[in-house]
Amino acid sequence: MTDALSPNACKVFVQALADAALVVDAQMSVIAANSLASEILEVRLEGQPISPFLRSPDFLGALGDVLQDSVPRKVNLSNHAKIQRRLDAYISPIGRNDRGPLALITLRDRTREEQVERMRTDFVANASHELRTPLTILSGFIETMQGAASKDEKARSTFLDLMKAQASRMSSLIDDLLSLSRIELDAHIIPDKRINLVDVVSQTANLLTSLVHEMESKVEIDLSSHLMVRGDESQLAQVVQNLLENAIKYSGRGKTISVQGKVDGLNAVLAIRDNGPGIAAHHLPRLTERFYRVSTQDSRTRGGTGLGLAICKHIVIRHRGRLLIKSVVGEGSEFSIEIPHSEST
Ligand code: ADP
Repeated sequence: MTDALSPNACKVFVQALADAALVVDAQMSVIAANSLASEILEVRLEGQPISPFLRSPDFLGALGDVLQDSVPRKVNLSNHAKIQRRLDAYISPIGRNDRGPLALITLRDRTREEQVERMRTDFVANASHELRTPLTILSGFIETMQGAASKDEKARSTFLDLMKAQASRMSSLIDDLLSLSRIELDAHIIPDKRINLVDVVSQTANLLTSLVHEMESKVEIDLSSHLMVRGDESQLAQVVQNLLENAIKYSGRGKTISVQGKVDGLNAVLAIRDNGPGIAAHHLPRLTERFYRVSTQDSRTRGGTGLGLAICKHIVIRHRGRLLIKSVVGEGSEFSIEIPHSEST
């Protein structure tokens, strides 16, 4: 028979493990637990029975079996403390103490992994759905042109225009998807070129003159002379263009959009304000989710993909900054970015 393990030896042992780990005795009481285990189960475990904290019948059954037959087992379980977690529990025999056999439980927290996996599958499903919609419309037009409208010149020309719009919708979507994946690939590389946001704003505003004209909007720009940041110029231009374009598109005809920039403490801050219809408070936390729109129809008729703000957020985070959104229904919206000012980095 092996020597009895002291509680102290068990404590030293679990503290040395990189995973959340605890040792329970034959009465299923915890005799040692490392800090990671207490953190995951949100309680100080030592001296307590394990059953109130890991209540899964499968887990408790497997633990009983391991204590009896010394054969290691693995169990997946959901744990409901303040945070609901998905855990893998590995149960192994590790000798005995003077009251009987002991089992080592190591816990691997798979909550985040499963969330990421769910987000990935949702994303693929959403992207496929977004691409399928214009594709279905396009196929419908092709069939009509091959059949009923094959000899009608006027209808053909109308259909071709409509088909062109659907093709360009697909192409914007693919551009945005590629943009997102490129930004994600570079997420860990902090861009380091010195950029003046003032130049970025004026170049972007020039690009949008025809939209401004079409919407009869007025864009008022008020910037400090220098707003230096460390950045990636084309990505920052993408952010400014997205925010400015949204402000023009969604505020409605004949509105005034203001772009204000200043240095505030350690940050360069750029705020784009419109006096459009505003956005109800419950939408605000979700606006930067991929494909989230207040109104899908409204976004589509304005050529939106639902990815613009997700792209902005990722770019701003890559620049160690923040994207802030404020809006009041009936008054308008303010989208601002804060990026560390280059003099202070
Ligand atoms: P989209 O391609 O649909 O414009 P975005 O991610 O850029 O996607 O924006 C998400 C949604 O946020 C838009 O569909 C729109 O409903 C809302 N939104 C963005 N900017 C504004 C704004 N300035 N005013 C009102 N709604 C806005």
